[in-house]
Amino acid sequence: MPESNTECDVIVVGAGGSGLCCAAEAASRGAKVLVVERAPKIGGTTSWAVGAYTSSATPHQKRAGIDDDPDRHYADMDLVNAAGKRADNLGLRRLMTHGAPDTFQWLLDLGVEFIGPNPEPPHSRPRMHNTVPGAAALIYYLNRRCRQLGVTIRCDSTLADVVMKNGRACGVVVAHGDGGTTTYRARRGIVLASGDFAASKEIRGRYFGQAVVNAEAVYKYNTGEPLKIAERLGARIVNGDYTAFYIPRMRFVPPTKASWVLRLPPSKVVARLIQFGWKVMPQALMRPFIMRFVTTALGPEPNLFKQGAALVNTSGKLVEVDIASPAHNLALDPGNKGYIVFDDTIAKRFETWPDFISTAPGIAYAYLRDYRAARRDIYFEAGSVAALAAQLRADPATLQKSIDAHNRSRGDAGHRVTPPFYALGPVRGYINAMEGGLAVNDDLAVLGSDSQPIPGLFAAGSAGQGGVLLDGHGHHITWACVSGRYAAQAVLGTTPRS
Ligand SMILES: Cc1cc2nc3c(=O)[nH]c(=O)nc-3n(C[C@H](O)[C@H](O)[C@H](O)COP(=O)(O)OP(=O)(O)OC[C@H]3O[C@@H](n4cnc5c(N)ncnc54)[C@H](O)[C@@H]3O)c2cc1C
Repeated sequence: MPESNTECDVIVVGAGGSGLCCAAEAASRGAKVLVVERAPKIGGTTSWAVGAYTSSATPHQKRAGIDDDPDRHYADMDLVNAAGKRADNLGLRRLMTHGAPDTFQWLLDLGVEFIGPNPEPPHSRPRMHNTVPGAAALIYYLNRRCRQLGVTIRCDSTLADVVMKNGRACGVVVAHGDGGTTTYRARRGIVLASGDFAASKEIRGRYFGQAVVNAEAVYKYNTGEPLKIAERLGARIVNGDYTAFYIPRMRFVPPTKASWVLRLPPSKVVARLIQFGWKVMPQALMRPFIMRFVTTALGPEPNLFKQGAALVNTSGKLVEVDIASPAHNLALDPGNKGYIVFDDTIAKRFETWPDFISTAPGIAYAYLRDYRAARRDIYFEAGSVAALAAQLRADPATLQKSIDAHNRSRGDAGHRVTPPFYALGPVRGYINAMEGGLAVNDDLAVLGSDSQPIPGLFAAGSAGQGGVLLDGHGHHITWACVSGRYAAQAVLGTTPRS
């Protein structure tokens, strides 16, 4: 049935962190807002994130006696981004560093709980704050605020085109899950908050080699179509070839079944209970509980391989690991799927600091016992090669040959993997997030072929990353939230600059 209510003030494409911040901000300024989201549920990459948010001048810093301000954060970004060896977009950097404290307070006022600040050199001050229990809490509270303000959010609704009239973006064509399409009109403007192109092999292929192209995206809906639609209108992607962290990253597959813990809303009550439990309960009980909150794909440390673990694919064939980029060869292997195999000596070693299996939200460092307790789906123990092969559904002869070859390659002095065996996996080569976003001006208006703003079209979050460098932890979410709110103000002509 055709939809009757198809006109609003602001259309936001994407219901991740930046889109929901944008929608809530625009609605709080009296705008009628529609959010179209391609996935069946809201959250985007943001809901997969660990939840680090990096800001100066927060109440948490003040309580900890840390003297900090946005100018210092802005200056420190030269050090944080130094390894990138490329020019930053300083206008957008300023927008992020100077907008971060206000948006942090705005999120606190919505109900989001943070812990921190944590030090992260080369920042000169501890600035990294973490949402509790994870980034899903951001989405929970942003969604609640949007609902209170009357924002309409339509899932299963994919941006198919932007409607132009007299050179101005004035509407969108949206394809729905049932096969129908609707054209929605926006009186004030459209904000592309549709994330990055991590799930587009085609766009990745423009900038990177085969290992990156083959890798799996952690979040599968960011196929970059809105960026391509903007390109057809004359826009361009900046820094498509840049990565703040090496890619592909090796990660464990995420849990397939949601535990009862994951069905709890990531609300303040749960966050407070976790903080309380952390103080009074034995660690042995709390750690697995917190680990069960982790929906995100955690990444094993390269140190496992340095200490002598082997990597095999699903047939049991050895995959060579380059410590500088451990997932590179795995991503090139057909299937891009493998298991980390090790023995008792390594297992014991990875039970205590500084040898952890991975970092993990809430508990900082996860050891083998944490995986044994909370991720039984990816944890294996076996007394022999045949028993291990049966559990991994690998070919026993191939697995035996791989372990022998691995042991030979370690040389006489190196550690040899012997029974009993342990395995963790599947692991795959993954893409977390790409750094390329549409070129935008300081008001987040998308720039067209003549580098002039395309009237009515704005971009925020990863879609509007516009050449700002976000190295270090926490800057992507900070950027998503700050730029989302700012884009709303820019569309409505209410920015501090306007
Ligand atoms: C495992 C992991 C951990 C991370 N941890 C952190 C962290 O702790 N701190 C940090 O700063 N960063 C982190 N990041 C990066 C960070 O999560 C992202 O950069 C950020 O969340 C991007 O927000 P966004 O709103 O721009 O995009 P998203 O949250 O991805 O939202 C985009 C939305 O647009 C929708 N969409 C896409 N195409 C269309 C279309 N055609 N039509 C309609 N809707 C569409 C998507 O479905 C999605 O919901 C992490 C990333 C990963 C993968």
